Amino acid sequence: MSDESFPPIFSPTRSNTHDPYGQLPWIRRIRSTKNTILSFEGRQLFPWFWPVNDRGERVTPDELNDHRLTHEFRGPGCLCASRIQAPDAFTEARIFCAESGVVTGQWVAACGRGECKYFVRLEPFYIKLGHPIRRYDRRRKSVKMIQEFFS
Ligand SMILES: [Zn+2]
Repeated sequence: MSDESFPPIFSPTRSNTHDPYGQLPWIRRIRSTKNTILSFEGRQLFPWFWPVNDRGERVTPDELNDHRLTHEFRGPGCLCASRIQAPDAFTEARIFCAESGVVTGQWVAACGRGECKYFVRLEPFYIKLGHPIRRYDRRRKSVKMIQEFFS
């Protein structure tokens, strides 16, 4: 997690706006931040670090789910965590290729429960210069499997 958090954007909303959990100010910040994917964790929005492989190349959007299985990496946090009281609450968004709507065929990160409006198109950020990146550690289970293979 980065030290740099992104505050919610409060603005007057029409009284008929359906936002029972007050997530709209966070949604506004996520949508208006064009250079970094934001992840909701610890009750704040933080930059999400795009994973890179051992050669320092960004993992492609269609490989993110596989990378998640082998590395200590997870999808960005959706806003469902804002409804959980624990200070370190985190609900992971699902990464998938959209099969309907205007983003059909594109990789997105969205609420896995369909309960909050967290939604990010991944591909524009994949090619964005300066997006935060991180080389995540391999998961221990995989490391063990490799060790067994070589012993
Ligand atoms: Zn959610």
